[in-house]
Amino acid sequence: MTKKVLVTGVAGFIGSQLAHSLQQSGHQVLGCDLVSLEGESPQAVDPILVRLRKERLAEFITRSGIEYVRLDIGQENAFDQVLTRWQPDTVVHLAAQAGVRHSMQAPLDFVTPNLVGFARVLQACHLHQTPRLLYASSSSVYGLRNQVPFVETDRTDQPQSFYAATKQANEAMAYAYHAQYGMGSIGMRFFTVYGPWGRTDMAPFMFAQSMRRQQPIKVFGEGKLRRDFTFVSDIVEAISKLVEPTSTLTSPEIVNMGHQRPVEVNDFVALLAKHLQVQPIIEYAPMQPADVALTCASEERLLSMIGQWSDTTLDEGLGHFVKWLQTWDPMH
Ligand code: NAD
Repeated sequence: MTKKVLVTGVAGFIGSQLAHSLQQSGHQVLGCDLVSLEGESPQAVDPILVRLRKERLAEFITRSGIEYVRLDIGQENAFDQVLTRWQPDTVVHLAAQAGVRHSMQAPLDFVTPNLVGFARVLQACHLHQTPRLLYASSSSVYGLRNQVPFVETDRTDQPQSFYAATKQANEAMAYAYHAQYGMGSIGMRFFTVYGPWGRTDMAPFMFAQSMRRQQPIKVFGEGKLRRDFTFVSDIVEAISKLVEPTSTLTSPEIVNMGHQRPVEVNDFVALLAKHLQVQPIIEYAPMQPADVALTCASEERLLSMIGQWSDTTLDEGLGHFVKWLQTWDPMH
């Protein structure tokens, strides 16, 4: 059935590809983000990031005819006005300031988009009685844990970064809207999403760009940290399956979005080097304070909600990523 889906954060890595895929499946999609169609954004100074966001918008949003609204999610009434005009039956809220390391340097950058912005999304969806609200949370809410896999009922009250604290706060805020107003939602805890059009501040992009230039890469925690990597098209497929039902959400759900298959960073670097056909120069450094040693999603709950979903191996996924990067940045 065709749905009206509003996706926030559509100049972003996941949002751009999700909006495109939903539209290809026949849904009516409206996208919004802080970035102008020319790529201008008040917070982005890195020229590579500016180019990436601009080109994601061109490739996935304007080219496929998706309607686009530029807005600051933290600004009073901005999101509410879009809901009033468009009346979607599903909101997928992905807009946020992302990045664990960034939040160590500039925690205040996270307050308006992640906390004020999410409060405005909740309030607008409540006022407009939006049937389905899906929002991005993060595996980082689990903090420092050695017990695997991470289960949705595990404690999440000891975030190791301010970014994680904002995501945990989002889950608590969604819970409160359920307690106060009976509003349902699904908080999607993403586990290290990677792939073509990926973020410039994440390891695949940063490592690949350094390795291609024969520059050393800094690997924290002796490369022993383990991450449950999730390929972007798998995540897009899983979110799309959560969008699909027509039923109104009635409870504050939380669900892990990962494959329960953590990989050591050393093995990830070796695979990336194989696809790039380079010998990596590795500089090991101690684990950073905001880092967690391990992420590993129990995927039982997700499977009970959507059934099977694609499970692209890290080897295959990095192959796709490298192919994209070599075309996107040919390094003549
Ligand atoms: P991204 O940074 O590529 O996309 C986020 C988008 O939000 C950007 O296009 C940005 O311009 C937009 N945005 C930021 N502030 C805004 C504001 N005030 N108003 C409107 N738009 C604003 O990030 P992503 O990797 O695509 O992640 C999407 C969501 O998933 C984020 O909420 C992120 O925290 C979460 N998440 C991502 C991962 C991952 O591995 N990529 C892991 C866990 C959680």
